[in-house]
Amino acid sequence: MMKKTIIAFCSLFILYMPVAKPTHANEIKRWKYEKTGLVFWEADTKEKLIALTFDDGPDPLYTIQILDAMKKYNAKGTFFVIGKEAERFPEILKRQAIEGHEIANHTYRHKFRDMKNPNVLKAELRKNSDLIKRITGKAPTLFRPIAGYYDEQIIETSIDNGYYVVLWTWHQDTRDWKKPGAKRIARNVLYDTKPGDIVILHDAGGDRSQTVKAVEYILESLYKRGYKCVTVSELLSHSNSVVPVLLLNP
Ligand SMILES: [Zn+2]
Repeated sequence: MMKKTIIAFCSLFILYMPVAKPTHANEIKRWKYEKTGLVFWEADTKEKLIALTFDDGPDPLYTIQILDAMKKYNAKGTFFVIGKEAERFPEILKRQAIEGHEIANHTYRHKFRDMKNPNVLKAELRKNSDLIKRITGKAPTLFRPIAGYYDEQIIETSIDNGYYVVLWTWHQDTRDWKKPGAKRIARNVLYDTKPGDIVILHDAGGDRSQTVKAVEYILESLYKRGYKCVTVSELLSHSNSVVPVLLLNP
């Protein structure tokens, strides 16, 4: 499996070699991974589709409020859940699944150091995946590394274990965890929205009342402007740049 993946990874890398040379170290890393079709920052689409993503949940207060807000618009989101929190609040995951949201992997323990050891990361992914499958009947296919940190080993371990790696659009980092005010969080998203954006927000890990309010503002404005909020998998299915041949976890 690993050998096959590495070969596919390398051949895609060669196949999609672009003409322009990136100048910044981050861009070089991003460019290299993005061209595999397995690592995403955003989707390449002209359709007015956006993916709102929520890290670190579920939370019995804020996640529920966000789900209620999204229901009014029939908006769908993607929740990168922490396993040990999901274990405490399985009914929230069940509701998310029933209402058509996507549940994705954000490790079981949410300990940064676990990502540094491939075997530990693999165990963390597996433990959370088994749990999510047990609760919702469906194993996750998307992984977001803790704090969005990635390196060669984290990416390879994730891919070898059947995951797409999902980061977020660079101009859509709301930094809602800093609690800058609901309006400011919303403005950050709405100011330069473009089709295919992946927005990062947090539905747990502290007081997320500003995030909840911001989600209400964001939804109201986006839907008025003709946008639709969809899950990351749905968004990627509309992307021109996705390479669909490597569905490692069918
Ligand atoms: Zn996190």
